[in-house]
Amino acid sequence: MGKSNDVTKSGGVIRRLAPAPKPSKARNKHDVFSAQKRSDIMKQVRSTGNKSTELKMIEEFKKRGIKGWRRNSKLIGHPDFIFPKLRVAIFVDGCFWHGHDCRNTKPKDHREYWQAKIARNQARDQESTERLRRRGYLVIRVWECEFKRAKSEELEDRLRPLVETYKQFLVGQSSK
Ligand SMILES: [Zn+2]
Repeated sequence: MGKSNDVTKSGGVIRRLAPAPKPSKARNKHDVFSAQKRSDIMKQVRSTGNKSTELKMIEEFKKRGIKGWRRNSKLIGHPDFIFPKLRVAIFVDGCFWHGHDCRNTKPKDHREYWQAKIARNQARDQESTERLRRRGYLVIRVWECEFKRAKSEELEDRLRPLVETYKQFLVGQSSK
């Protein structure tokens, strides 16, 4: 029973979902899925979960010689990575929960239920991006599917502002 809750706990890519119905009585009432269906959905989400994409992100930083990231930031919206000195915040968004318009992210069953949930996440994402920007952060949001080889150019484009910011930072350091 605890399983579905694990997935929706905060931290990482899947974060701050609307609270799941807690008391067991209420749970049955709200549980629109069969146990099997729920487990299938959660498996699907888990298999593309944040752990591996976060590690992939770190590989991308290393490839570009970029250092100085921090994980598990408590900053607005809980970015997956921040670069405190560069004032850069990076989110790695799961395609399903954050509503990317790519393959396999449109559930056929219970469309309205999922769409409402995803729409809430998107509104929250947008709000945290705006709030961070107002605080002077460069905000980069990367879709998890962009880590695939076929989409490496998109990832390159996505990370370019980080690379540029890092270069400028290094120049600033060396002229001190
Ligand atoms: Zn995607």
